[in-house]
Amino acid sequence: MAIAQKIKLTDYLPADCANGRTLWIDGEWQASADGQTFPTVDPATGLKIASISQGKAADVDRAVQAAKKASKVWADMDGMQRAAIMRKAAELIREHRNALGTLDSIDSGKTISETAGRNVEGTAAMFDFYAGVTDKIRGSVIDMGPQKTGLVEKEPYGVVGAISPWNFPMSNAATKIAPILACGNALVLKPAEQTPLSALLLAHILDLAGVPKGVFSVVTGVGAEAGAALVEHPDVPKISFTGSTVTGRRIAAAAGQRLKSVTLELGGKSPFIVFDDADLDAAASGAVTTVFMNQGQTCTSCAKILVARPLMAAFIEKCKEKVAGIKIGDPLDPKNDLGPIVSTVQLDRVRRLLAEGLACGSTQIELKADYNPLEGGNFIAPMIVTDLDPNSSLAKEEIFGPVMTIYPFDTDAEAYTAANDTEYGLAASVWTTSLSRAEIARRTIDTGIVWINCVHTLSFGTPVPGRKASGLGSEYGLEVVDNYMQLKTTVTMFGGYRGLF
Ligand code: ADP
Repeated sequence: MAIAQKIKLTDYLPADCANGRTLWIDGEWQASADGQTFPTVDPATGLKIASISQGKAADVDRAVQAAKKASKVWADMDGMQRAAIMRKAAELIREHRNALGTLDSIDSGKTISETAGRNVEGTAAMFDFYAGVTDKIRGSVIDMGPQKTGLVEKEPYGVVGAISPWNFPMSNAATKIAPILACGNALVLKPAEQTPLSALLLAHILDLAGVPKGVFSVVTGVGAEAGAALVEHPDVPKISFTGSTVTGRRIAAAAGQRLKSVTLELGGKSPFIVFDDADLDAAASGAVTTVFMNQGQTCTSCAKILVARPLMAAFIEKCKEKVAGIKIGDPLDPKNDLGPIVSTVQLDRVRRLLAEGLACGSTQIELKADYNPLEGGNFIAPMIVTDLDPNSSLAKEEIFGPVMTIYPFDTDAEAYTAANDTEYGLAASVWTTSLSRAEIARRTIDTGIVWINCVHTLSFGTPVPGRKASGLGSEYGLEVVDNYMQLKTTVTMFGGYRGLF
């Protein structure tokens, strides 16, 4: 029997919630208005974990009305008060490390070493970082000459709608919750239907930390119902979304009709360039990390690997050696590095892209990872593919699975052309010991992030700004204050006003 079956949800979540009332609205666990539920499934075993309330427009409306009322209480607190509550939340997140990690692992298939390790730590640190921002938000004074003062202030939007994906359930939710709260907004979160569990425990933790009732709500449900209702709700002036480009376009179009502000973190087809002067071992370590971490289900994954032709064979050998050390199996076993893919839908998509690529003449290189799939789970072994047809869907689409695609190049110009030959513009990773190459790469590659001799190296202070089809606006950094607050200009005259008429 898989370990996941031994988990009793009441050990991890408040009893009402664990027993199927999974909407957290106005400080209470509630069922959906029509009582409908959907299952969340353990991707490591295919077994149902829990029944989740299927929130719809009426439920979203209850959450938004509560948020609207509570947003005033939250915005009227001074920054220091909000910061204290957010710091308390960070402390409680660390105290709930095991529960948060376990919920994310059984729901998403991510390994417990990752979820209870760097994901919980990152989630707590996200609250600490933005607690430090909330009392430092400033406006400005504009010089308008004598008798006039121009003030520019930042005001919260009121209620923000946040829609999060399944690939880093807890971390991606926190990436929205912490800055949105820090800026004095209330928010309604719609977590991904595949992975709602950790958001429910986060709701409980924020309640314990002292976030006033109604300021943070969670409406579980499916995208086309709860997600769409949040985007369409007239009292939600701002939407923050992370997910696929297809859904991002749909949300941007709906928000555009209603003239709402949107922040979008979307997909990518990010390049990884290994020049002939690169530190080959470090580059191979970076390539194996970026392609295979989280089973390839990472939006900033730089999985389009471009290698200087003379290095191709040696680079592939090094990648094979590094893959041999990866342990794949039960996500709840702390020895494992990787688990299954999140859902059968995603697994089928990866297999389809791979089959299409191979049908177009690609070559699959055999790899020997320590691969121990569980029965009934969505497991797939890592693979490297070469000789790709650049017009195949495997070469063009975001794969979101453990597939490393490698292309040789002969000149630097060829590498840059291939790197920019995509509708996406999220990230790039470049490996070279030449300062001038690094500088040229940084200026030539049209992506929001360029990593030089590293990959996925970020801090909370570094924005993640997707370009082209990879997004609008950015997350992380102090820049998010501009996402989650609106400007107000006030001009005051000290007498002497003369109008045109
Ligand atoms: P995937 O296709 O991999 O499931 P999505 O980008 O569709 O990824 O999902 C990311 C998030 O967007 C999830 O929370 C999902 O429920 C939500 N979502 C999906 N469709 C819509 C929609 N039409 N409106 C709002 N949210 C949506």
